[in-house]
Amino acid sequence: MVAFNINSAQKKVVVINASHGGVDWGITYDSINEKELVLNISQYLSSINDAHIKFVGIRNTDDYISLNDRISKVDSIHPDLVITLHVAQDLDIRKSGVVVSVGKNNESDTSKQYGNKILNGFKSQKFGVNDSITTADTYFMNNVKEIPSVLIELGYLSNEKDRKALINSTTKEQIAKAITAALQ
Ligand SMILES: [Zn+2]
Repeated sequence: MVAFNINSAQKKVVVINASHGGVDWGITYDSINEKELVLNISQYLSSINDAHIKFVGIRNTDDYISLNDRISKVDSIHPDLVITLHVAQDLDIRKSGVVVSVGKNNESDTSKQYGNKILNGFKSQKFGVNDSITTADTYFMNNVKEIPSVLIELGYLSNEKDRKALINSTTKEQIAKAITAALQ
């Protein structure tokens, strides 16, 4: 049988950019670390067989990938959207919730629309969220210019409630629901 599925060609392609990896652990708190948290979520999203969205992970193992290599990969895939995943931390341990941003060189209406939809997606899944989308000033976000791009900080590792949610095994399903619902 020929494995040709016309529907797959119509799916929205969303690249998931799991930050950090390898020697770059990102934020750590006790034995919890950012590079594993975002990789788990990226792998989970890539495993979803959604009727309308195909998630493609940029980092699928615990390896270091340079920012320029990530940007080249995004350019070669040319997806409908790229979502970068991080977690946050703050000296103020009361600070909590999901933060959604767009790049300062990529504040296109499309990026902002995706950002707002994703923020609402998290709200509807009962996540604490920031009031509105913000601007991210990172090398990756500033250099993915032609493709709609959104950064999600999935909560604060410095906050006890967020930390407990992030290490809860069912949270990745809620995160996936929040994102897929937003992109339909
Ligand atoms: Zn990070």
